[in-house]
Amino acid sequence: MNEIRIRGNLTLCKLMVRDETGTCQITWYNQPYLKNVFQQNQRYKFFGKIKNSAGKIEMQSPVYEAEESNRNTGKIIPIYPLTYSLSQNTIRKIMENGIQEVENKLPETMPEYFIQKYQLYDINTATHQIHFPDNFENFKLARKRLVFEELLSMQLALLSLKNKYEVRKQGICFNKNVKMSDIINQLPFSLTKAQLRVLEEIDGDMESSKPMNRLLQGDVGSGKTIVALISSYKAVKSGYQAVVMAPTAILATQHLESFTEILKDTGITCELLVSGISKKKKEDILERLAKGEIDILIGTHAVLEENVVFSKLGLVVTDEQHRFGVRQRSIIAEKGENPDVLVMTATPIPRTLALILYGDLDISIIDELPPNRKKIETYAVQKNMEARVNAFIAKNIEEGRQCYIVCPLVEENEEINAKSVMELVEIYKNQIFTQFTVEYLHGKMRPKEKDEIMERFKNGEIDILISTTVIEVGVNVPNSNIMVIENAERFGLAQLHQLRGRVGRGEYQSYCILKYQGNSKMIQERMKVISSTNDGFVISEKDLELRGSGEFFGTKQHGLPEFKIANLFEDIEMLKQIQAISMEIMSQDPLLEKQENKEFRLLVEKNFKNRIEI
Ligand code: ADP
Ligand code: MG
Repeated sequence: MNEIRIRGNLTLCKLMVRDETGTCQITWYNQPYLKNVFQQNQRYKFFGKIKNSAGKIEMQSPVYEAEESNRNTGKIIPIYPLTYSLSQNTIRKIMENGIQEVENKLPETMPEYFIQKYQLYDINTATHQIHFPDNFENFKLARKRLVFEELLSMQLALLSLKNKYEVRKQGICFNKNVKMSDIINQLPFSLTKAQLRVLEEIDGDMESSKPMNRLLQGDVGSGKTIVALISSYKAVKSGYQAVVMAPTAILATQHLESFTEILKDTGITCELLVSGISKKKKEDILERLAKGEIDILIGTHAVLEENVVFSKLGLVVTDEQHRFGVRQRSIIAEKGENPDVLVMTATPIPRTLALILYGDLDISIIDELPPNRKKIETYAVQKNMEARVNAFIAKNIEEGRQCYIVCPLVEENEEINAKSVMELVEIYKNQIFTQFTVEYLHGKMRPKEKDEIMERFKNGEIDILISTTVIEVGVNVPNSNIMVIENAERFGLAQLHQLRGRVGRGEYQSYCILKYQGNSKMIQERMKVISSTNDGFVISEKDLELRGSGEFFGTKQHGLPEFKIANLFEDIEMLKQIQAISMEIMSQDPLLEKQENKEFRLLVEKNFKNRIEI
């Protein structure tokens, strides 16, 4: 074997091998230890892709082993994710030892009767066959068993959560004589059919003695806030307090403004609790809250703190719920006695999935935008359009509008070929838009600075706001009508749609300009989807279809659980089957108390601890 040093510590090992049919040159990079692995005149097996270059046969970095060994060749071999200098070979050896160590000793994690009934592999066979399958059929069966277990434990966990709510002691029956229509009639606009429908569902829940646990899904701009307000009105007029929790101070402040405005003639008192307020103000709020002098508390995570005590909390609303975990939802709910809970989200996920994945919640959907909303015109453009885009921005600002520019990075990064906030500020502020006020916003800034910038943007003192995706959630500046997204190819479709929702909130025709790089079919297809529709549900279906669930759900933005082996896109049929099975199990044994379901109970407990952070 020859070792050649190319440069620095890059080395190349070349090996010439021969069998009955001819010779082959093999190359490895950076594996100098191979020098001592091969002996002359010994027989080895090599497995890899063969390259035929001008009649010469070559292989690069093949799998190899001694002729008599059959660890790595001649069968299905596992490929593990690698890190640092670990090789497939090393991990494979370790796994082989590991599997041998536990062979037939793993305790079964699902009930025996269940494994029989659905003809699943037992845990030991599944574990062995998923790593070292004898054939593809066995591999599939092993995977099926593990996917079954993973999805089933999620479903059972969600359903038992729901059962727990439902057997929870008596919830609150809000007053039937308090009519939502009283406040609805005072609004400056009429509600959409969809808003009225979900309010009816909520009203029903509120009047019933069953504690409400409802998810309200509605696209950006579909008018969820007003639904929260009307529900809070009903709670307050029935003699209870309500709390509305939002993920950022900006959003909470915005909610407070619209609540105070709309409720000004009702005698209902609203207050804001965020971490930035003065100690004195905070003490005052806490005191009045405990005395019942504040009817609606609006705030951020700050409302979860232990010293926030209500006198009579009846309704809990969380906005943009995927930012809050189940635990936070229950902390706040425990500040009242079985209050009704409404969680709102603007992340549309395909209906089939929503029904299954939010199995612990009842679902209401606002599938209609308020009338006279102008469609946001969306254009996907490449670098050659830059000058035109800039001219277009300038023209709109001169007409009095404002513009958002969103990019993936805060600072320049040599390794990532994408635009950063600081880089763009330099160019736009000092070179292209010198006549306008250009400011920036990103997650590394202090909350106070961020709020200040946002406030100035809202007041129209800033023309162009360059930011990262921090502005993604719920911000409402109706005067801004252009959203430029740099390196749009780097964002998921759902996220692009969310970002686009920052404009089109006022009377002005709004535009979303997606600047992208790259010409792959996937990028083209995605740009086409987002430019051709404004319907969040259609986009999320397409997103799922184009990317597969690995990426769709891998990105935390959906707030859905991540799976070790299941793939919600490929395994959707199995998921439906499992949902039916889980319901059957739970209908027989709602809290999984039967001895025969002991294993399921353990799975659910494990699931609650590690995974469910919806
Ligand atoms: P989201 O569902 O994204 O939270 P908002 O509740 O912020 O949307 O509503 C967006 C805007 O639409 C707000 O300015 C709100 O006052 C307005 N709005 C809500 N419902 C209606 C309606 N039925 N008709 C007209 N405007 C509405
Ligand atoms: Mg909202």
